[in-house]
Amino acid sequence: MLKVPGWKGALAGQHIDIRLTAPDGYQAARSYSLSSAAEAELAAVSVELMPDGEVSPYLVRGVSVGDQLEVIGPLGGWFVWRPTQLEPIRLIGGGSGIAPLVSILRTHIQSGNSAPVHLLYSVRTPDYVYFHDELMELTAKAGADVTIQYTRQAPAGWTGTVGRLDAARVTTWAATTEPTSSTYICGPTQFVELASDALVAAGADPATVRTERFGGK
Ligand SMILES: Cc1cc2nc3c(=O)[nH]c(=O)nc-3n(C[C@H](O)[C@H](O)[C@H](O)COP(=O)(O)OP(=O)(O)OC[C@H]3O[C@@H](n4cnc5c(N)ncnc54)[C@H](O)[C@@H]3O)c2cc1C
Repeated sequence: MLKVPGWKGALAGQHIDIRLTAPDGYQAARSYSLSSAAEAELAAVSVELMPDGEVSPYLVRGVSVGDQLEVIGPLGGWFVWRPTQLEPIRLIGGGSGIAPLVSILRTHIQSGNSAPVHLLYSVRTPDYVYFHDELMELTAKAGADVTIQYTRQAPAGWTGTVGRLDAARVTTWAATTEPTSSTYICGPTQFVELASDALVAAGADPATVRTERFGGK
């Protein structure tokens, strides 16, 4: 949670840049999607640890409550959802790519928007489900139907499939949702490309598919 002076909220789906400056003046900036609701007073981000990364290890292990960070934003004008949108919503997230989708869910609930919501969430194992309890609460409040795809290991008693999200799984899931939906896909680059290609191949209008790539493979 970040308290940003002068913060006036953000559009659901937007991100901020966090810039670090070393004592010798070296700077590194990285983007992080906001998971907070559009009108929230605090800016919330979820940072996944990339063990060999330059910035995320510091943000995950090195930052304490009360530290100051340089924040730029909110940024981004395409991967956004506005409460005035009335069409059904498809959300597809991979790993920490759930963050901006949570912002959309929170904003959807707070605004009283009644559009149907469908969430497809791909994670390695149950331990990797970001804010599990809150996510379940949010999706229930939003009346969203949720499909979790565990790629490596599922919880005990799981009756669904386990394995990477592939084109067939995306297509099968999409067939249970409204063709008129707007779709938001977020996660590692390869994941986003696979999911968006599969949706378009299944007939989705590319103009209705918004993507946010986090980098990596
Ligand atoms: C618009 C936008 C929003 C983003 N939102 C988030 C967010 O909410 N949470 C979050 O954790 N990250 C997010 N990212 C990714 C983030 O900006 C950094 O790239 C990430 O934290 C790695 O930075 P780093 O300095 O630790 O690693 P780097 O030093 O930049 O890279 C280290 C290694 O990790 C690989 N790598 C970088 N990103 C990923 C990835 N996502 N998956 C797999 N491998 C990767 C690189 O290719 C490289 O091999 C977002 C990126 C963008 C462009």
